[in-house]
Amino acid sequence: MSHTSFFKQVNLHFDRAAQLTQYEPGLLEQIKSCNSVYHFSFPLKRDDGSIEVIHAWRAEHSHHKLPVKGGIRYAMTVNEDEVMALAALMTYKCAIVDVPFGGAKGGVKISKHKYSQAELERITRRYTYELVRKHFIGPGEDVPAPDYGTGPQEMAWIVDTYTALTNNLLDAMGCVTGKPVTQGGIRGRTEATGRGVFFGIREACSITEDMQKLGLPTGLEGKTVVVQGLGNVGYHAAKFLQEGGARLVGLLEYEGGIYNPDGLDLEAVMQHRRETGKILGFPGAKDVPNPKGLELPCDILVPAALENQITEQNMARIQAKIIAEAANGPVTSAANEYLREKGVLIIPDIYLNAGGVTVSYFEWLKNLSHVRFGRMQKRFEEKAQRQILSAIEKLTNRKLNEEEVEQLAHGPNEEDLVNSGLEDTMVNSYHELREIMRRHQDRIDLRTAAFVDAIHKVARSYMELGIFP
Ligand code: NAD
Repeated sequence: MSHTSFFKQVNLHFDRAAQLTQYEPGLLEQIKSCNSVYHFSFPLKRDDGSIEVIHAWRAEHSHHKLPVKGGIRYAMTVNEDEVMALAALMTYKCAIVDVPFGGAKGGVKISKHKYSQAELERITRRYTYELVRKHFIGPGEDVPAPDYGTGPQEMAWIVDTYTALTNNLLDAMGCVTGKPVTQGGIRGRTEATGRGVFFGIREACSITEDMQKLGLPTGLEGKTVVVQGLGNVGYHAAKFLQEGGARLVGLLEYEGGIYNPDGLDLEAVMQHRRETGKILGFPGAKDVPNPKGLELPCDILVPAALENQITEQNMARIQAKIIAEAANGPVTSAANEYLREKGVLIIPDIYLNAGGVTVSYFEWLKNLSHVRFGRMQKRFEEKAQRQILSAIEKLTNRKLNEEEVEQLAHGPNEEDLVNSGLEDTMVNSYHELREIMRRHQDRIDLRTAAFVDAIHKVARSYMELGIFP
């Protein structure tokens, strides 16, 4: 395990990229600094009547754009350094995918499985109350979202608590994203990060020149994949990769991993886990102890659990040719350098897992506009397409059957629009990063290109404010 703190690791990447820009040191220092950190503790009355002190944080890394945005993590690894690092990654991530937010992150230091549902609700509502008191939450100030250990349920408690405590009822729904659809959420948000990871990997694999350098054929079809972490991000990434033609050969969870070079059926593994409580012992697969699963032979390794997974300890044994960082910070700075020199293609977290915040942005827009995407144009577009088809039928003297008409004249609904906006964002951003690499004669990796991109965009924002003329 590396001893460099997570926030320092992020800043090492930042400094490497900053050298390739011409900004004055003060501006770079401002971009890099974490603007505000709120550490608080509060008592939790447990179901048995005992009292426990809970520690929690919210870090707002950059206010160059408002609101700031970033998930809330429930894990025992949570500490000040971690939330600051994750908040910094959010600033850069939002800039890369042109989401107009600053970066933030929150965390509660708990092991979620030790608490009942009622206790988790009390923790979440009290956490929200503390954020409200210090103006660390609000649709125009700071908008949390799910992260490791949290999901739609926690987001529903947050919006309900915020709504009860605010006078700004019109926009209250926009105080948090990743909510259930019935509570102001948007269709496609749950899958968004994993779907974005899929789009990013697919795009990388579609570039023949880059695949040739790795000795791999172009495209996703048949590529072998190992995924670490079958939570929200890992499960959905694995699902879309499998549907896209890749072969899942290794799946790794908390309790250990399973390997089958002929492929694993994701849904059957998930069913086995529901029935037995673990993925181990899956029929036809070999059990692999943690953390050896990361070293399994594969074309694409997708770490989707937590940070600091690929380190100086195991970097020499990694066999993957592509590392797709679905989690935040899974490869340490030292391991990144080693693997880069070895020729491994690392698709960096600040680009690859930005699908979540992209669709969170769509959800926030929906909340502020109070209208579901597609509501006004769906039928109109369908009618217009039907008219075009009927004109074509007349011209060609060929009558389309109802099934063909249904397929061709389809007005987009909310989910279609969300997924299309997400795909567009991930595809365009990948090419923007590749273009930056090309401008540097391919001497820099994708991560450095991503940091260069983010630094330029945040710097421009500060300069346009006139703070650094
Ligand atoms: P999650 O809590 O839904 O799932 C995490 C999974 O990882 C769990 O199933 C857990 O058991 C497993 N896990 C934990 N330690 C492991 C280990 N050592 N080996 C194998 N598996 C292990 O969390 P998530 O929301 O999927 O987040 C995962 C990562 O993705 C985090 O780094 C998070 O910051 C990042 N991320 C999440 C989102 C999002 O929208 N949820 C967005 C961007 C980035």
